[in-house]
Amino acid sequence: MTDNTQQATFANLGLIPTLVERLVELEYHQPTPIQLQAIPHILAGKDMVGGANTGSGKTAAFALPILQQILQQDTPRRRGNFVSHLILVPTRELAAQVASNVKSYSYHLREQIKTVAVFGGVSVNPQMQLLRGGCDIIVATPGRLLDLVSSNAIKLDRVKTLVLDEADRMLSLGFTEELNNILALLPEQKQTLLFSATFPDKVTTLAKHLLSDPVDVQLQSAEESTLVQRVFSVNKGEKTAVLAHLIKQHQWRQTLIFVNAKNACNHLAQKLSKRGITAEVFHGDKGQGARTRVLDGFKSGEIQVLIATDIAARGLDIEKLPVVINFDLPRSPADYMHRIGRSGRAGEVGLGLSLIDYDDYHHFKVIEKKNKFRLEREQVAGFEVDDDQSEAYFLPMRPQPAPAGTGKKKKKKRNQLEM
Ligand code: AMP
Repeated sequence: MTDNTQQATFANLGLIPTLVERLVELEYHQPTPIQLQAIPHILAGKDMVGGANTGSGKTAAFALPILQQILQQDTPRRRGNFVSHLILVPTRELAAQVASNVKSYSYHLREQIKTVAVFGGVSVNPQMQLLRGGCDIIVATPGRLLDLVSSNAIKLDRVKTLVLDEADRMLSLGFTEELNNILALLPEQKQTLLFSATFPDKVTTLAKHLLSDPVDVQLQSAEESTLVQRVFSVNKGEKTAVLAHLIKQHQWRQTLIFVNAKNACNHLAQKLSKRGITAEVFHGDKGQGARTRVLDGFKSGEIQVLIATDIAARGLDIEKLPVVINFDLPRSPADYMHRIGRSGRAGEVGLGLSLIDYDDYHHFKVIEKKNKFRLEREQVAGFEVDDDQSEAYFLPMRPQPAPAGTGKKKKKKRNQLEM
């Protein structure tokens, strides 16, 4: 283990000079807390459950030791169409991003270490070609990986390391079948690493059978976070007006807005357009080409307002994103943390705003309770909550009569898998 009294450097963690030198080029001056805690254990071959805030450097925490293991293994690599290290992620964009990070960390080793990203929504042939002759690291979404296995483009029976990035999502119901099919193809003996910002209890229980004597590193902490959270109470039917007002008032460089359904993205974009705000949408019904273009445009600042479903909630690293707004509250309290965690990454100041109306009041309390925080309910000047609705926001929780016309209770749906 690392001696905490030593100055925290990547070299102290046991990383070899080639990797450390590259990190200097990338201006990674010091390991982040999760890197500090995780890297020595992973280098030592331990299984791990790694939890740390969104944007806290989890990718490098697992990628760097994997690269080192590949460099230091003495048996010949890349035989046939085998892969030795497998990183599974829930969305296509995250597969591309993680693979790009891994390639960046191993930039000077690109002749030696081959990393391939595989994900759906794009033609399979270029991916098959890249996999020819095997590779060291695959970063994959489960469905496409299984397609490639069934067409014999890749074999998984020599995998030495399995990483589940966004592990709680990967272990959620939506991925069960695909994940089980993949696990069945992997050798019994391997190192397994689970990383996420959130580990709901039921996931931790589920994960146990995957791991052997794991090291558990949990560093999630509100104090460490550079993300400010705020919640605004609004009248029913006024969310769009409040949202437009906030966007115009603050003139954020970029604004990422989350809603709960694909058609809600388009609907809200139209409503904002009527208020003079141009917004693009990002959801699972868009073609992969359009998804990539929109995300790139948003990252570069060309697109200022992006309305997305939860496919954008996990892992995406949008540099210096100033604000995330929950127009709809996510059903899952874990997703709340992931959504707002697109802002305030890598030590940058960030802002996560939620707009709640009468119908959201109870659910926001659940989100607070599960995530162990409590926010003061604020109001937006000029959009104060009417007296007949305000009671719900400020009094201690008790059963509230439904206001006229809102009697229908929303049915809780399982978070639909949308890749
Ligand atoms: P991640 O949580 O892996 O998505 O990383 C979040 C952001 O932090 C990314 O932009 C990384 O490039 C950056 N990052 C990761 N580790 C470090 C480090 N040790 N020093 C500076 N930046 C880092």
